[in-house]
Amino acid sequence: MNIHEYQAKEIFRQHGIPVPPGEVARTAEEAERMAHKFGGTVVVKAQVHSGGRGKAGGVKLARSPEEAGSHASKILGMHIKDLKVDKVLITPAEDIATEAYVGLIVDRASKRPVFMVSSEGGVDIEEVAATNPDAIRKLEVDPRYGLLPFQAYGLATALYDDLKQQRAAARIMTQLYDAFLESGASLAEINPLITTQSGDVKAIDAKMNIDDNELFRRAEIEELRDESSEDPSEVQAREAGLTFIKLDGNVGCCVNGAGLAMATMDLVKYYGGEPANFLDIGGSSNPEKVVSALRIITADPEVQVILFNIFGGITRCDDVANGIVAATRQIDISIPIVIRLTGTNEELAVEILQNAGFSALTDMDKAVERAVNFAKGEGQ
Ligand code: GDP
Ligand code: MN
Repeated sequence: MNIHEYQAKEIFRQHGIPVPPGEVARTAEEAERMAHKFGGTVVVKAQVHSGGRGKAGGVKLARSPEEAGSHASKILGMHIKDLKVDKVLITPAEDIATEAYVGLIVDRASKRPVFMVSSEGGVDIEEVAATNPDAIRKLEVDPRYGLLPFQAYGLATALYDDLKQQRAAARIMTQLYDAFLESGASLAEINPLITTQSGDVKAIDAKMNIDDNELFRRAEIEELRDESSEDPSEVQAREAGLTFIKLDGNVGCCVNGAGLAMATMDLVKYYGGEPANFLDIGGSSNPEKVVSALRIITADPEVQVILFNIFGGITRCDDVANGIVAATRQIDISIPIVIRLTGTNEELAVEILQNAGFSALTDMDKAVERAVNFAKGEGQ
């Protein structure tokens, strides 16, 4: 789950990270009023689940409340990477001396939280990684011990020469590590971590992604969910109890089990296709879930074919077959459907499908290849 900058900043504040104050406005008038309250120069910042807002014109300095209002009226309603802006953060402007980068992610390769810091902040870290990888210092944290003080200092000295700033930054590293762990985050990023003209170290941007699987035990984090900022198909899928992630391809995938769903996507790629989604209909699938899944997949105009890949264990193939038949009666589906089922009640499922005019395959390779051919317009 993504959260907004203002929400991540609140989590940072709770952990003691120095963050400038800020308030969220939904209209230009509100923005103007808040700017007036803060006084002096403020920054008007689009609140969307995306980086690169600065470059896209979503971060603007305002020298007066009126200017804050006029910036807000332009930023509210604009789109950044296809995401509509409906909120802006108003925050006092800082007098920036330097901009650094601090990131903490769960690294799959080392299976640990990994810090990445660079004195070249403010810009895209991907760009620094590509052009000047030596400018990034990495540190794997052993979760059994947490971030040890000498490690926090090591990271801080990669950013600053000044002793006071090193101390401040080391404290921030520790606080960020705590915020990350306690929120169940998969990513926490400060870009930029600034020094001000008077020498203070502060976080003026904040980004956090929360691991969805951590949410069930963190009601206060789940509350931060902003459905208006999420993909409508993903919201619908969550409500139907499906695990769904929208992708850019045109082969709609409907699979039971996350592992099989990953393997199916790999095989789609292997045969030269592009999956339109990741979709796990879950373990004990009832026909209703299949209906919801088909509704979500067919709502995507890019999808050229639907590929079912079901391994019947606890999931009964006949349940899925009934779901497919029910769904095709309820929804007008004009694209081909390729079905592969194997396992529990497979014979019954094939019979149900054949009676309804579908054919079913048991071989995964053949099914995926056929689906990819349909997607390429070469199907039969
Ligand atoms: P992003 O582009 O989405 O990452 O948004 P940021 O919050 O990182 O803002 C982009 C850039 O705007 C920063 O790197 C700063 O250079 C600038 N900026 C943001 N806040 C301030 C501020 O308070 N004062 C000044 N002078 N610049 C700011
Ligand atoms: Mn930033």
